[in-house]
This record gives sequence, C-alpha cells and structure tokens, in this order.
Amino acid sequence: MKILVFNCGSSSIKFKLFHMPDENVLAEGLVERVGSKDAFASLKTPQGKTETNLSIVDYPSGFSVIKSMLLNPEHGAIKSLSEVNACGHRVVHGGESFGGSMPIDDELETGIEAVFELAPLHNPPNLTGIQQARLIFGDIPQVACFDTAFHHSIPERAYRYALPEKLYTEYKVRRYGFHGMSHQFVARQAAQMLGMHKYSVNLITCHLGNGSSVAAIRDGHSVDTSMGLTPLEGLVMGTRSGDLDPGILFYLCRKGYDTDSLDTLLNKQSGLLGISGSSNDVRDLELKADGGDERAELALDIFAYRIKKYIGAYMAVLNRVDAIVFTGGIGENGAAMRNRILSNMDQQGIIIDEMRNSVHAGVPGEIQAQTSRIKVMIIPTNEELAIARDTFKLTKN
Ligand code: ADP
Repeated sequence: MKILVFNCGSSSIKFKLFHMPDENVLAEGLVERVGSKDAFASLKTPQGKTETNLSIVDYPSGFSVIKSMLLNPEHGAIKSLSEVNACGHRVVHGGESFGGSMPIDDELETGIEAVFELAPLHNPPNLTGIQQARLIFGDIPQVACFDTAFHHSIPERAYRYALPEKLYTEYKVRRYGFHGMSHQFVARQAAQMLGMHKYSVNLITCHLGNGSSVAAIRDGHSVDTSMGLTPLEGLVMGTRSGDLDPGILFYLCRKGYDTDSLDTLLNKQSGLLGISGSSNDVRDLELKADGGDERAELALDIFAYRIKKYIGAYMAVLNRVDAIVFTGGIGENGAAMRNRILSNMDQQGIIIDEMRNSVHAGVPGEIQAQTSRIKVMIIPTNEELAIARDTFKLTKN
C-alpha cells in the first residue's frame, strides 16, 4: 500500500510517499515559498532528484507541480496517480472534537474549519491541502492527523486556565497542546526501547526545535504539556517568548502596542532571537557564546533553565519517571544544550554520561550515567512516519 503524507504550511507543502507496512520512503519533496516569485519545488526519490522553479502562484498550482514531479518518467515515484492508496494530512488544531486521527469527509472538513480561529496561521492551509488532495486523488481515503489529539487525555485541572468558566464554555479558552504526533511517536518508541508496554511507561518528552514543547506522559498517555491554547505558551523557542506574566501585555498596550504588534513581538521577535539580538539558531548562539557574546550565552541559559523548570514540574506531576526523552533538531543534536538542561539534577536521580551524550547525535539511544536512576534517551522524531502509520491503520481494510 502506498501512502502519501502532506504537511501544508502557510507558504510550503511538504510531502512524503511511504510504502506500507514496511515503511520504505519512495519519494519526498517540498514546495517552498508558494505564492512568491521565488517559489521552488523539489522531489527526491531513489532514482534521483527533480527541482523546478515554475510559477507556483497558489496551492492548486503547488499540487499540480507535485503531481507532475511524482509522475515524472525519469525521477518520479509512480506511473499513475491510482498507485497512491491513501493520503495522510497533518492538521495542527483539532480543537476539543478530535482525540485521534480521523478519516476525512465533508463533516470533518467543517470540523477543521470550525477551529480556524484557534489556529489562524495553520488550519486554513492544512484544510486547503486536504481539499486539493481530495480533488487530485479522487475517491481514495484521506486521513487527518491532529497535533492536538495526543493531548486529549490531559485532565481538566491541567488543561483549564484560572479564568472565569465562561471563557472556556463560550470561547473554548483552554490548554490544547501541540506537537502531539511527535510526543506520541517518541513515547511509543521509548516504551519499545525500554522493553515496557506502551501503556505502562512514564516519560517526560522534550520536543526541542524551532517550536518547542514538553509533555508529561503517564502510562503512555499525555497528562500535561507546556503549549496551551496556542503554540506560544511554555518553553522559550526560536522566536517565541513562551511563558510570561500576562500583565506585560496590558503594560505594553498602555505603551502603544496593539494586538498585531504584540502578536509579532511575542511570536516572531522574542525567544532566543529576542534575547540574543542576533539569532534563533542554537548552533549560531553556541558559537557566539564560545566567542564571548554574553547575550548569546544568556539566551541559551534562559532556554535551558525554562526546560529544566518544566522537567522538575513534570517529575512532581508524574512521581515515577522512567525516562526523559529528547527529540527535535535541538533535542536530537544539541549535546551541549542537553548538558545545560540536565546539569545539577543528580539529587533528582538524573545524571548524564558526558561521553555518551557528546557522541550521540541523531540516532536513538540512552545517554544517562550508570548511576542515574532515571534514563535519558535521544529519539529522533518522525512526524511524517507517525502520520503514515495512523493513515495505514485507519485505511488498510
Ligand atoms: P522545526 O521546529 O522547524 O522542525 P527542527 O526540529 O529542525 O525545527 O530544529 C531546528 C533547530 O535545531 C535549529 O534552530 C537549531 O538551533 C537546532 N539544531 C540543529 N542541529 C543542531 C546541533 N548540532 N546542535 C544544536 N542545535 C542544533
């Protein structure tokens, strides 16, 4: 069975074709800067690479370029569209309705549209991608995989804010959590690596990339996570502030900021970039900090400190923690950052082996010292594969 996975952003379309159930990747590609004159599309298959910078003015033309790249007789991956048996789509926000991946029909599309307001940058392009795929591939099954779904198990005391109930009942203001496909994927893999049942493992999973979040997982189910109503809450991120005193917002309003400028400030100009004044990339900041840049050093320090605080909080929530799992670009590759985060936690039962930590990059494994009570694991995430697996599970019959 061939499953095509789509991850559609506001100006990019990522796609990957899997052969299931053996999980072989038959093709992967990307359309970047949709709508701009510098739009660019690429496809990689075992046969070679195709690149094109045809005009890609909108989503329909992006999808038609994807179709012709996949069908390209030289470097393509399929001879006819009918070889694709199902499509899986990443959908960022599922609101309160979707607690798992779902087959797509008109009603489900309406459900995705109903939460546009909660994810105005993500859900509209996600839905456009679904509609284009349904147009192009006709009657084959399509599946929506929600970033929020894995966190549906979070109890009310963790997902409710201390606001008047009306804000929850009328406006659905609550914590939803994101990166669910990633937290779930690494949690299942961690259970396997630990030789435990997927529903008996207790974990703290740290997804650290440009966007970052932590999840507390009890018996394989998410019971708390750092992102909230939107992906702005929680950890310090590349350009997002994460947690802050809401009083700052009123203070800045009185200084002349309006809704849009606050949105830009907190989502695009804060985090590592805002503190360092120079970069949102951990690698750049580490080089700068080594060269004596104090603001870069401070940015890394605040980033690590916030994660340490969440790990401490989730240890208190879970009581028993089998392993702390690192994933995402920083979590998988950033040995120095992992060290910063977990330093001085020996009294909590966490000691990392510096040697194992420093040699471990991008491959699954454990990096704790022999004397560490809690295991520390690196598990590369694979959200596309998680979507392909769910799509396969829901459509194989
Ligand atoms: P996204 O959230 O966009 O998917 P990624 O998970 O790819 O992001 O993570 C991107 C981040 O990973 C970059 O900002 C960079 O700081 C970090 N990163 C990648 N490689 C390393 C490395 N070797 N050491 C430290 N950080 C790294």
